[in-house]
Amino acid sequence: MRLILLGPPGAGKGTQASGIVKKYNIPHISTGDIFRKNIKEGTELGTKAKEFIDKGLLVPDEIVVAIVKDRLTEDDCKKGFLLDGFPRTVAQADALDIELKKLSYNLDKVINIEVSKDELVKRAVGRRICKECGATYHVLFNPPKKEGICDICGGELYQRADDNEQTVSKRIEEYQNKTQPLINYYEKQDKIVNIDGKQDIDKVYSDIVNALGGE
Ligand code: ADP
Ligand code: AMP
Repeated sequence: MRLILLGPPGAGKGTQASGIVKKYNIPHISTGDIFRKNIKEGTELGTKAKEFIDKGLLVPDEIVVAIVKDRLTEDDCKKGFLLDGFPRTVAQADALDIELKKLSYNLDKVINIEVSKDELVKRAVGRRICKECGATYHVLFNPPKKEGICDICGGELYQRADDNEQTVSKRIEEYQNKTQPLINYYEKQDKIVNIDGKQDIDKVYSDIVNALGGE
């Protein structure tokens, strides 16, 4: 299965990705996770990306495209992949099309998770992530059993620096200006599946699996 998860920041892409990659046994490629790992490790890439991420802006296309191109040539992508948070601009989508053609990979579906702006801000501001395993929680909508502690691995939960109201609003604006056009882009390729992301997490997941033709 070769999939893209599209949707505004806070729509639930990462949350749904964890179930999808398990079900289809494919690697989860999240450009946001790749940047956060690099920021944590203090790499040159991390330092460059942080300048943009902290302001709620997209990282320049050439940086992101180079990372994804490299990642797609790794062996584990032969069995398929789930791209989460990439592409985010038409230029990225064009570059991805070229790369997929080179690798003789066909995209199966682009899952577009739809959520209203008010809900997005609430979701992002309440998001908490495990420092150890990256599992995602929400203080109200999906709380861990024990406050501040990951249910899965016992790791400490943290709040992303860019999950404050001001930066989230900027990220949504970037999404509307630069990423939303991709819905039409992939509609033209007949790949889009629209999913109502306002429902609870399990229902969103079952709608996605149904749309992919699974049980
Ligand atoms: P994205 O990867 O699209 O930015 P996340 O998957 O990290 O979004 O979800 C953002 C926040 O919203 C997280 O705190 C997550 O627990 C919560 N969340 C995800 N899906 C739902 C849902 N269907 N209903 C309520 N909260 C959700
Ligand atoms: P995410 O984890 O998907 O919310 O991404 C966090 C931040 O990383 C975004 O707000 C962007 O600054 C940056 N980012 C992630 N993926 C991309 C991408 N495909 N293009 C540009 N910037 C990206």
